Amino acid sequence: MTALFPFDNSYARLPGRFFARLPPTPVAEPGLIQLNEGLALHLGLSPERLKTAEGIEILAGNRLPDGAEPLAMAYAGFQFGGWVPQLGDGRAILLGELIDRDGVRRDIQLKGAGPTPFSRGGDGRAGIGPVLREYIVSEAMAQLGIATTRSLAAVTTGEQIARETLLPGAVLTRVAQSHIRVGTFQFFAARRDVEALRVLADHVIARHYPEVSQADKPYLGLLTAVIDRQAELIAGWQRIGFIHGVMNTDNTSIVGETIDYGPCAFMDSFHPDTVFSSIDRRGRYAYGNQPGIAQWNLAGFAQTLVPLIDDDGETAATLANEAIQGFVGRFESFDRTGMRHKLGLAEEREGDVALFRDLLTRMANNKADFTLTFRRLSDVADENPVADERVSTLFENPAAFDEWAVRWRNRLAGDSQSAAERRSLMRSVNPAFIPRNHLIEEVIVAAVEENDLAPFERLIEVLESPYEDQPAKQRYAAPPKPEEIVHQTFCGT
Ligand code: AMP
Ligand code: MG
Repeated sequence: MTALFPFDNSYARLPGRFFARLPPTPVAEPGLIQLNEGLALHLGLSPERLKTAEGIEILAGNRLPDGAEPLAMAYAGFQFGGWVPQLGDGRAILLGELIDRDGVRRDIQLKGAGPTPFSRGGDGRAGIGPVLREYIVSEAMAQLGIATTRSLAAVTTGEQIARETLLPGAVLTRVAQSHIRVGTFQFFAARRDVEALRVLADHVIARHYPEVSQADKPYLGLLTAVIDRQAELIAGWQRIGFIHGVMNTDNTSIVGETIDYGPCAFMDSFHPDTVFSSIDRRGRYAYGNQPGIAQWNLAGFAQTLVPLIDDDGETAATLANEAIQGFVGRFESFDRTGMRHKLGLAEEREGDVALFRDLLTRMANNKADFTLTFRRLSDVADENPVADERVSTLFENPAAFDEWAVRWRNRLAGDSQSAAERRSLMRSVNPAFIPRNHLIEEVIVAAVEENDLAPFERLIEVLESPYEDQPAKQRYAAPPKPEEIVHQTFCGT
């Protein structure tokens, strides 16, 4: 029989100081919660075989698939601005890599797979709550069109893990273009290991950015390409109201995927200062700060590349600095497009950004729901203004919307696209369904307290089509009732 996972590993070929080799730690009693069959097929895997007892044992870390070369990756990072020289995969094991149906190399990693040399006293495990949360949100992000790591499977371990209370343990199979982070570069930069930096940079270029290898200065090309991907990613987050919550450099993917779903959350009512993470007391990673923080994280990346960019340190630093300054322009360009499309504008005109910002200010002052406001805007764009009531009722003071809508309609009239084109443009960027906090909470409570996974399954099904109306699923589109509002989210640890 062919191998269950057709592994083709490249990271395991890198020098030994890049990782620690070790297998996952077996668990008491593996049980399948969910297998992502569509993703499995895309990866060239057999859902039927993954669902057998053997497959589930692999997904729980109790058995190694043929061709696996399990390892925990080394990395460092700035956490909330403070330097931590050694982090690394403290509870994740990379099984190996395979090439998907699109020819893209993907890491297959078990998260919650037991302690590693990087665990720093942690148990190496994950609870069912955070695993369900990551599964739901990462898959929703993928369907929303945002670059992200994916979730192939979630399994229970049959073990309890000790957090504030005892919780059921679980393992998530995470799939990523790679798990290399800005913090991976920082790990070697801090050790002044320029040789390792070069090996790592060459690996990343060959794997993710082959187009820059021909550039005059390939490492500067790499920096610019990573900046571009991050700029696009963060603009995507802003477009859908996603707050990552822990934008540390160890959680900043070198391929520009959203990675490490901990205390992340989607905003309900709009406010730029929104923070959910219980550990983010100063609001460092608030919604409105995300672009600036991304640039700060990228500046850290740039610093690690200085010894590679040019033999002359000063020249290298100048070039790296210029590239970092370029982030703002790149981000704003992606962001402007996002804003325009959210308002249904195909052509770029002066004043569009101001028009968008004015709406956001009115939303913030009136506690308007971010997702619903834009979704309903998509529906009323080409209706008689009488229909605007559907949007204005989302504002504490409906007149705040009505005043703005007059200017918006004037601007729409000057745009050349047809009503049908506008509607489909707006509906393709303004989702009806997002994984709202209170819905995720409901799913986790049912799973943990009642051992009931049906609500989880229903939620992920709705989130498979976030841009469709799904009239029978309106409950999932609604903002939380006051008593349902989730004010804080917690790290998965
Ligand atoms: P995170 O906040 O999830 O990005 O994790 C930060 C660091 O803590 C990483 O090095 C993780 O591998 C490590 N870590 C998180 N949770 C655990 C755990 N339960 N056991 C061991 N290490 C952990
Ligand atoms: Mg992390």
